[in-house]
Amino acid sequence: MTDPPLVLPDKKSLHEFGDNMYGNNDSFDLQAYLTRGVEQIVSDAVKATLKDPKESLFMAKFAAASKAASKRRRAAEDAGEHIPSFLIASITSKCNLHCAGCYSRCSHATTDTEPVSQLSSEEWLRIFDEADRLGISFILLAGGEPMLHRSVIEAAGQKENILFPIFTNGTFMDERYFALFDRCRNLIPIMSIEGEKETTDRRRGEGIYDRLVSGMDELCRRGLIFGASVTVTTENLGEVTSDAFLKTLSDRGCKAVIFVEFVPVTEDTEGLAPGDREREILCEELARLRRDRPEMVYVSFPGDEKSAGGCVAAGRGFFHINSHGGAEPCPFSPYSDVNVKQTSLREALRSPLFTALRDGVLLLDDHAGEHLTVNQGVIGSSPVGGVFKKAVSICTSSSVGRATDS
Ligand code: SF4
Repeated sequence: MTDPPLVLPDKKSLHEFGDNMYGNNDSFDLQAYLTRGVEQIVSDAVKATLKDPKESLFMAKFAAASKAASKRRRAAEDAGEHIPSFLIASITSKCNLHCAGCYSRCSHATTDTEPVSQLSSEEWLRIFDEADRLGISFILLAGGEPMLHRSVIEAAGQKENILFPIFTNGTFMDERYFALFDRCRNLIPIMSIEGEKETTDRRRGEGIYDRLVSGMDELCRRGLIFGASVTVTTENLGEVTSDAFLKTLSDRGCKAVIFVEFVPVTEDTEGLAPGDREREILCEELARLRRDRPEMVYVSFPGDEKSAGGCVAAGRGFFHINSHGGAEPCPFSPYSDVNVKQTSLREALRSPLFTALRDGVLLLDDHAGEHLTVNQGVIGSSPVGGVFKKAVSICTSSSVGRATDS
């Protein structure tokens, strides 16, 4: 997959930075907070690739580009315009797998049918160009299965100032992709894995684990860096933070692990969503891993929203563009009142929905609340939940209206 992970600052670095986050008037400086998070991740990535000359050369160049991008975002902030550091781009609606509990299939954002009116590679390149000018340093490519839309990934390879983690189910690695990843070091495959073989195959399908590790081994043999994305549930928390699992990943050449908290999309999977206690354990484990296993970068999503002054969706820290061009607060919130086929990113960030979410108090709270899934109503609790119910309420109670992005 395609579980949509985000690169967010970790609790430790945020707390270290905490005192600098507030100005004299106690107002939270989100831009400084996000910039610090980006710098931390980039510096960890530089350290993790030091032994590979080609990779560390790219990372050093990217670190400089990312600093320049931060300056552009800061200048915009000072002029009254907030530019997020991240963007999630779902570049196709198609996928070959049927993973248990896939939120994207549940919302029909992912289907088995041929994509209709999805953005072309030229349209995505225009978006990437504008993102670069605005100072957005990370664009996470997701889907569906993003590697099914090869021409967009090739277009992304041209944008050296932007790092593109590609969240993939790992079943489409081929010679052409290996050659592309070798040529364009800003494209980083992030392989979705759920734990050991049994756990991974139970959720993703028989034989998927073996295909994933064979892809990892080939990437490693060719000296290409890659990461892993792990959906954290109440069931696999111990397994995916264990030394045994992480050592296997590291031995195979993995350089980054992104932990994404499971978001339930049906009532029968609510029990899999990490609660407060599991999140606490995850935080402690992340601190331990950063200390004891510094050979990899560890990132968690949604991370510590309290430190971030609340939810960072809807352009506070990131936003999502779906495969048809609809600009949405987050992949878990498929609502949009603007399409980037017709507008610029800058205009999309000023959409009535995003503005209402950002400028009201709706995002200024961490999510302990309910999560709204498409067509299903409100269910359970989710770490990235409350905003969506509120977003929908804004959409349906104002002139904004329910999103149509296709
Ligand atoms: S079904 Fe496809 S989009 Fe959904 S989680 Fe699996 S790989 Fe990702």
